Amino acid sequence: MQIKKEMIEAETLSLQERDEHEYWMQKALDLADKAEELGEVPIGAVIVLDGEIIGEGYNLRETEKRALAHAEIQAIEAANHHLGAWRLEGATLYVTLEPCPMCAGALINSRIERIVYGASDIKSGCVGTLMNLPMDTRFNHEAQVIRGIKATECGDKLSTFFRGLREKRKKEKVMNKTVDNQS
Ligand SMILES: [Zn+2]
Repeated sequence: MQIKKEMIEAETLSLQERDEHEYWMQKALDLADKAEELGEVPIGAVIVLDGEIIGEGYNLRETEKRALAHAEIQAIEAANHHLGAWRLEGATLYVTLEPCPMCAGALINSRIERIVYGASDIKSGCVGTLMNLPMDTRFNHEAQVIRGIKATECGDKLSTFFRGLREKRKKEKVMNKTVDNQS
């Protein structure tokens, strides 16, 4: 069954539909925690096909020193490996933060059926915020998009992380100053 290519806001879904999406989004949030444990910006993603996770990933940009090591890219690669195929037809990607242009492009190339995300990204979101690449009819593939699933939780996780980072940097600055004054 082909699903309709449209932008759906989480709050317009039925309770039952929302429950199902929240279940998978929680898996993506758990993966975001793994990224955070490594000091990475906490972003996680899972790809689901027929009620089964076929790929997962979390941000590893700092750990792997790779600009491409975003959660979605890792999840796509894992799903390709799992299926032994590059096409992810019929699959749904869940990601805690709206995909950037690179990941939105990779998702188009993977022929993913549906993209579900939590928090919107005002700085680089290309699935509805700055642009909407997977729903641009000029491309040869379009996906359905659902946004705002567990948006508060996904967003809070990021803002808490960045607040912690700022406080850590502030502390380091004070420490360095103290050292300077003493020398
Ligand atoms: Zn990305």
